[in-house]
Amino acid sequence: MFENEYVEVELPRQKNIALIAHDNKKPEMIEWVMENREILSHHFLCGTGTTARLIADKTGLPIRGYNSGPLGGDQQIGAKIVDGKIDMVIFFSDPLTAQPHDPDVKALLRIAQVYDVPIANNKSTADFIIHSTLMDCEYSRKLLNFKRNIDDRVKQL
Ligand code: PGA
Repeated sequence: MFENEYVEVELPRQKNIALIAHDNKKPEMIEWVMENREILSHHFLCGTGTTARLIADKTGLPIRGYNSGPLGGDQQIGAKIVDGKIDMVIFFSDPLTAQPHDPDVKALLRIAQVYDVPIANNKSTADFIIHSTLMDCEYSRKLLNFKRNIDDRVKQL
């Protein structure tokens, strides 16, 4: 391992949480948000357009909506992860229905993995995450030092 190959990046105590649900999973998402309303109310919420609107209408929680998923909302959320503006993703994806924006969905999963952002793809994982004691703490992630990585690549190429 080289010096400065990794950097420590904090997930804050009060987290920016992105909520996304495919159409068949939207009722499950609304129910999950209602069940966990108290905990979620201590954090900042955002989501893809339709999911966010439904959550706002049905639960009254404040939530920032991005574009609808098929119109680039998943990519907007991925870009925010890269910028360090989203700390956690709850994504109830539908494994039984083909999605026109499947490449965007894969890209979001990948970028969450690259940035070591917690991401739940189903209700039980979301339950384990939301009830973790780490929800109420800062958490330090060890990320690849991207600046150092570019410097090294430029030297090699
Ligand atoms: P939606 O997008 O919340 O606008 O329906 C979700 C998705 O399909 O990724």
